[in-house]
Amino acid sequence: MATGKTTPHIPAVRTIERPRNLDGTLSRVPDFYGSNVFDLRSMAKKLSSHDLDTMSKVMKLGGKIDSTLAERVASAAREWAIEKGATHYCHWFQPQTGTTAEKHDAFLWLDKNGHPIERFTGKELLQSEPDASSFPSGGMRSTFEARGYTSWDPSSPMFMMETENGRTLYIPSVFISYHGDALDFKTPLLRSNESLNKEAVKTLHLLGEKNVTNVVTNVGAEQEFFVVARDQAMARPDIRLSGRTVFGKRPAKGQELEDHYFGHIPTRVQAFINELEIELYKVGVPIKTRHNEVAPGQFEVAPIFEGANIAADHNQLLMKVLRTVGARHNFTVLLHEKPFAGVNGSGKHVNWSMSDSTGRNLLDPGNTPHQNLVFLTFLCGTMQGIFDHANVLRASVASTGNDHRLGANEAPPAIISCFLGDTLDRILNAIEAGKADNVSAEKAMLDLGVNHLQHVALDNTDRNRTSPFAFTGNKFEFRAVGSSASVSFPTAILNAAVTSGLTKVNAKLAARAKNGTVSPEAIFEVLRDVIRDTHNIRFEGNGYSQEWRDEAARRGLGNLADTPSALGVWTNKEQTGFLVETGTLTGSDLESRAAIQWERYIKQRLIELNAAIEMAQTGILPAALGYLGELVNLGEASARLHISSPAQKLAGEIGQLTVRFENALTSLRTSLERVTSGDALEHHELPKTAKEIAVQLLPKLEELRSTADLLEAVVPASKWPYPTYQDMLFPAD
Ligand code: ADP
Ligand code: MG
Repeated sequence: MATGKTTPHIPAVRTIERPRNLDGTLSRVPDFYGSNVFDLRSMAKKLSSHDLDTMSKVMKLGGKIDSTLAERVASAAREWAIEKGATHYCHWFQPQTGTTAEKHDAFLWLDKNGHPIERFTGKELLQSEPDASSFPSGGMRSTFEARGYTSWDPSSPMFMMETENGRTLYIPSVFISYHGDALDFKTPLLRSNESLNKEAVKTLHLLGEKNVTNVVTNVGAEQEFFVVARDQAMARPDIRLSGRTVFGKRPAKGQELEDHYFGHIPTRVQAFINELEIELYKVGVPIKTRHNEVAPGQFEVAPIFEGANIAADHNQLLMKVLRTVGARHNFTVLLHEKPFAGVNGSGKHVNWSMSDSTGRNLLDPGNTPHQNLVFLTFLCGTMQGIFDHANVLRASVASTGNDHRLGANEAPPAIISCFLGDTLDRILNAIEAGKADNVSAEKAMLDLGVNHLQHVALDNTDRNRTSPFAFTGNKFEFRAVGSSASVSFPTAILNAAVTSGLTKVNAKLAARAKNGTVSPEAIFEVLRDVIRDTHNIRFEGNGYSQEWRDEAARRGLGNLADTPSALGVWTNKEQTGFLVETGTLTGSDLESRAAIQWERYIKQRLIELNAAIEMAQTGILPAALGYLGELVNLGEASARLHISSPAQKLAGEIGQLTVRFENALTSLRTSLERVTSGDALEHHELPKTAKEIAVQLLPKLEELRSTADLLEAVVPASKWPYPTYQDMLFPAD
């Protein structure tokens, strides 16, 4: 076992180059980018132009694929994948565990004479039935007939993964019950994209943009993570089992020098990210940016933004490949929101925007007064959605890991608010104050400086890191999402919230429409209305401050501080009504989701607590007592020999600490038994149990931890049983 005393094994740097061409020269990125994706380019070689046309439409605009086309696509995909060396295919989906799931099947089949053939049918492409009983369902499938199946999502292309374990054709899929309930994170996202599309097109038509046929949402998810030497991570039961450290004394140096952020990327880590990028390019994930993050050992990679559904799939792929390629470099990648106390945690900034069929970004302030009006209308629709559904947005990012991050002066607080930046804030205030009454909309906008909006995109160098939902020039950044979370779910909720906001705006516009169009003056009136109604969601100041918490309370904004407080939202019909209305989730989806989330919270906390108890009992206490024993012996011997030594004094101090530690351990263990006794883990008790864990057990874990950290400061490093923060956060380069 690697311990703090041993010098960790430092393997040679693994350097991977870009793939080589047949003539031996290095290929260029565009040559191999997407080479393992069964995209339109690859389909063109295997499908008729008519089929290709249909597929192209379905991939862009959604829609169904009939069984005969599915047959031809399956056979084309099979040929493509087998030529590339694949032996298996799998439906790849996002059950509500946060990770992805996959069940592999061989292309192998035996014909009626028992001869081996390769087969992959349209039916196998369209549908597969994993053993659904082992996935979280929140009781939804407790009845016999409520089983689930996965079904290909043709709007996300199939791809082939090459790993140490072989080559497999991956089929991005949704996971639904036979009653049509969503059992995954992808289905709500697809549904929300559809409803936002409809509502946003309505808005544009009311604004006179009759040529627009559809609107899509775009997402670019910045991914933060920690990198730890694998042998050290493996020597820590807490990291292995729960992804975070539950013990660990702060090292003499943390992130106070701010020398890590954007600093030189350590050689080994850069070699790892380099290989990561090459692997991701092959499967068409457009990673663009890599840099050190704020905490030592923390990094970020970010892709070029894409349509929300593809971006969400690509983020899942990124998380998967981070782990597998990390292992090749002897790294364990920690996606947990707070692996280390005392330094920053990790998030996933979800950059989000809407664009229409003409290619225009609807959150981009344009150059003409009319374009500015379109921009302001979508901005207002978005703010209306955030204002009305802040609590549900908060609940959509609630997780055990995120509880250590939100509100911990490093990430946005748990209070949802909107940051717009100086210029925009001033303009909206002026519109709200009605400073431009009784003039033409065009003149009003000039007076208010709306014509300067086009510069907002350039000027808006906002780095107000404290806002959970910040406008950054031509997009919003939803920063409260946790680093390990699926992008799909929070994006689905955001889409639904904005759909609901636009619905309100549309009703106001429609009431003022003449022949289906609204005059600029009337649009202006609607904007003023919305800006006034949603004023309270806007906040430009320091989100970490106590003043903001007080102010937010006065404004009546929600402050759901932790997961057990946030999860109640899912069963509050008044708050979640818009999810049903927009078709994002059904009533039973919501119920099962709530149950799953309660259960996940409890299970994850119990793993942490049990890991802590075990480390305390079998590692830390023996180490401390061993040292105490040596001091006691030394003290006795020195007294006998009349030699002065501090042994007795030290033994007294350490003795006291070990007593405190053992008391904390006993107290935690007893409380844990009490909280989890009886029917505490039965369905109807889950909320109560989760709250008890948060309120009663977590403070006891903290007491155990703080005592352990004091012991770590006095027990000889050579006797400490676990790799230390210093070892893990400041490795040799
Ligand atoms: P930052 O300064 O916050 O790092 P970047 O411009 O690098 O800003 O963008 C961060 C992420 O936002 C990237 O993934 C980028 O592709 C994405 N992004 C940029 N424009 C948009 C947009 N219009 N819609 C959605 N995401 C976008
Ligand atoms: Mg950013």
